[in-house]
Amino acid sequence: MRKRVVILGLPLDENSSYLRGPAEAPATIREALHSGSSNLCSESGLDLACEPGFSDDGDLSLPQGEKAFDAIASAVGERLDAGARVLALGGDHSVTVGTVRAFAQRHPGLEILHLDAHPDLYDEFAGSRDSHACPFARIMEERLARRLVQVGIRTMNRHQREQASRFGVEVVAMRDWRERLDLRFSGPLYLSIDMDVLDPSAAPGVSHREPGGATTRQVIDLVHAIDVPLVGADIVELNPRLDPSGITAMCAAKLVKEVAAKMLASP
Ligand code: MN
Ligand code: MN
Repeated sequence: MRKRVVILGLPLDENSSYLRGPAEAPATIREALHSGSSNLCSESGLDLACEPGFSDDGDLSLPQGEKAFDAIASAVGERLDAGARVLALGGDHSVTVGTVRAFAQRHPGLEILHLDAHPDLYDEFAGSRDSHACPFARIMEERLARRLVQVGIRTMNRHQREQASRFGVEVVAMRDWRERLDLRFSGPLYLSIDMDVLDPSAAPGVSHREPGGATTRQVIDLVHAIDVPLVGADIVELNPRLDPSGITAMCAAKLVKEVAAKMLASP
């Protein structure tokens, strides 16, 4: 039986360390998703336009500061309790702390697959522990995940390498990303996609452009290869202010289709 999947926009970018803009991303991704230039069919053959299990709950209105994470966790939790899987649209990457808190409570043994140019493992960044450079440090400190696997990383520094080894993070650096990545999960799985995992030639509309990244195809193939229950996901860090042609929004919309289809069909 198909699962239910709900889209939830998280327009938060106050924890961005460098540029604002990702708060505008959920609306921009929806526009690309519903633009007349494509359809809502996933490559696996699911047509989201006529999938009764696929719906969009719009954007949350979020308070400032720490309370935003509580608001995200409780809104995501309500939907999980109602039997849905949640695909969140960021927002900067700090939103993942809120979403994963909700998933961890309801899915013991949660595993996380995190695609990003950056490990986001800083203990604190520019004086903030809520920074979008820190979410996976918070998640591992709070023991919200049994496993964290990071793929596409290409900005590792000494501090974050120490953090990765302290938390037992499994890191597949971009330089080691071979055609067939043999990632084994037992699930339930949460997928967090930072748009800057993609090479900036494919997806320039991000605040922290890091050359030498993944192709859109590589990321889609990784999503298709998931064979455990994909209970939740987020797509974060699109910055529409740096995306004049709209191509990054189109990449995000493509990923929405492929990830939502996987969430609908996975066990
Ligand atoms: Mn990043
Ligand atoms: Mn990130």
